[in-house]
Amino acid sequence: MKILVINSGSSSLKYQLIDMETENVLAKGLCERIGIANSNFVYKAHGQTIEQQIDMPTHEAAVKIVLDTLTDKRVGVIKSMDEIDGVGHRVVASGEAFKKPTLVTPEAMKLMEEIKDLAPLHNPAAIVGVNACLAQMPHTPMVLVFDTGFHFTMPDYAYMYAVDYSHYEKYKIRRYGAHGTSHKYVAEEAAKYLGKDLCDLKIITCHLGNGSSITAVKGGKCVDTSMGFTPLAGVPMGTRSGDIDFAAAEYIAEKEGMDVSEMLTYLNKKCGMLGISGVSSDFRDLSAAAEEGNDRARLALDMFAYATKKYIGSYAAVLNGVDVIVFTAGIGENDDKVRAASLKDMEYLGVKLDDYKNAHCPRGTVAEIQADDSRVKVLVIPTNEELVIARETVQEAKLA
Ligand code: ADP
Repeated sequence: MKILVINSGSSSLKYQLIDMETENVLAKGLCERIGIANSNFVYKAHGQTIEQQIDMPTHEAAVKIVLDTLTDKRVGVIKSMDEIDGVGHRVVASGEAFKKPTLVTPEAMKLMEEIKDLAPLHNPAAIVGVNACLAQMPHTPMVLVFDTGFHFTMPDYAYMYAVDYSHYEKYKIRRYGAHGTSHKYVAEEAAKYLGKDLCDLKIITCHLGNGSSITAVKGGKCVDTSMGFTPLAGVPMGTRSGDIDFAAAEYIAEKEGMDVSEMLTYLNKKCGMLGISGVSSDFRDLSAAAEEGNDRARLALDMFAYATKKYIGSYAAVLNGVDVIVFTAGIGENDDKVRAASLKDMEYLGVKLDDYKNAHCPRGTVAEIQADDSRVKVLVIPTNEELVIARETVQEAKLA
């Protein structure tokens, strides 16, 4: 069985074709600058990469190129489109309209239209992506898989904001979280790696990438997560502020003459590591600058590790202890200094890193980096959000 996973952005479309028997990726790639001059198509299969400038005026044109290439006699990996048993679409925000992966039907797409403004940059793109695929593959089952889905097990006292309750009732203002497929994947992989039943474990999963979120997972279910109504909340990120006193934002807006929408762009794009350091949003650049003595780069890195540590500490309290801490995504998988700083002085909690194992952690595989006498296991696990989307597609479309 083969599942195509689609992740649509406003001018991009990422894709992966996964063989579900082996869970191997048969082909993957990216369509960039859709609807913009010099569109770019990237295709990786058979250990080779093809990159071509092809005109892609619409997402539909992009999907057609993906399908033509997947079935191409020379470079393709399947004989015909009929070999694609299902398509899984990543969707960023669900509101309370969708609490689990959902089969694409006219009713579901109508609901998707209604929640467009929950993620104005991303959700409309997902709709365009689904319609583009439906136009090419009208009879193939398709499933919407939401970044928020894993977090619906949070108790009400964890997901509610202390605002006028009628605003929750009217507008569904609450914490939704993000990166759900990643948190779910690494929590399951951690249990598998340790040979333990997920139901018996208290896990804190740290997805640290361009966007970062931290989740408390009890018995395989999310009980709290650091992102909020949108991905702006939680730890400071590449360019997002993370948690901030709203009155401080209002004060800046007042002084700088920004309206609400400009303020949100500022908090999402100009703050975080970039805003503090003035150097970059990328942790590799920040580390290099800090080593050269740039004090604001040092400060940004310290703030990130401190915020991560605070979430880990508070989730240990929420979970009544912790058995496993997992690091994943670009920073979590690659930056040993961030991992070490985030877990510094946590011996009281039973967390102790092995400095050598942490610094020499192999890439692309599950690795254990805690000291021999650490009660808590600390794992680095490469995330695989596409595989979770593919698995959910098989399950929801009842393809297995
Ligand atoms: P996203 O999927 O949210 O775009 P990723 O999970 O790919 O983000 O993470 C990207 C970030 O990971 C980069 O901005 C960079 O800060 C960090 N990163 C990637 N590789 C390394 C590395 N070798 N060392 C330190 N940080 C890294």
